[in-house]
Amino acid sequence: MGLNKEVIKPILAGFGITARRLKHKKVTVSYPEQLREQYPRTRWRHFLARYENGLEKCIGCSLCAGACPARCIYVEAAENTDEARFSPGERYATRYEINMIRCIFCGYCQEACPTGAIVLRKNFELADYKRESFVYTKEMLLEKYPGESDEPYVGRYQKKDKKEPAGSTKP
Ligand code: SF4
Ligand code: SF4
Repeated sequence: MGLNKEVIKPILAGFGITARRLKHKKVTVSYPEQLREQYPRTRWRHFLARYENGLEKCIGCSLCAGACPARCIYVEAAENTDEARFSPGERYATRYEINMIRCIFCGYCQEACPTGAIVLRKNFELADYKRESFVYTKEMLLEKYPGESDEPYVGRYQKKDKKEPAGSTKP
C-alpha cells in the first residue's frame, strides 16, 4: 500500500474532476432570489377562473370532484337567480374547497371541467405551517379579477410586499 497510490493519486483525480466541471455552465439557481424556469405544462396551485365579464366559470357541477383520484375536492352548488347571478349557467358553486395536503397535482380536475373553471398554474411556493391552511376555500381559489391566473408567476420572495403568503392570491 503506497502513499502515492492510495492517497495522492485519488486526491489529484478528485481535483481533476472538479477542474473539468469548472468549464461547464453553472446550474445552481440562487433561490429564492432567482426562480428556475418551469416547463410550460407545469401544474401547481389551483385557481377558479372568471369570464371576461367577471362571472365565475364554475357551474357547481362537481365533475372535478368526481374525477379527482385523491377525493380532495368538495363542491356545494345552488341556483343562480336574476337578482343574484354568479355564473352564466343555472347553477354556481356556493362552496368549493380543495384539500391541498391530499392533492397529487395530477390535473384530472382541470381535464374534467366542462367550462375551464378550475385550472392549475405555476405557483409552487405552497408551504405553510398549519394543516388548516391547506384547505383552500372558494374565496382563496377564485380569481380576484378575470385573467389573474394567466399572469406570469412572481415568486413569493420576489414580491415587493414580502409578507404576501404562498400562491399569489392566497389570503
Ligand atoms: S390535481 Fe388531481 S388530486 Fe389535485 S384536486 Fe385536481 S384531480 Fe384532485
Ligand atoms: S370547477 Fe368545473 S368541474 Fe368543478 S364544479 Fe366547477 S364547473 Fe364543475
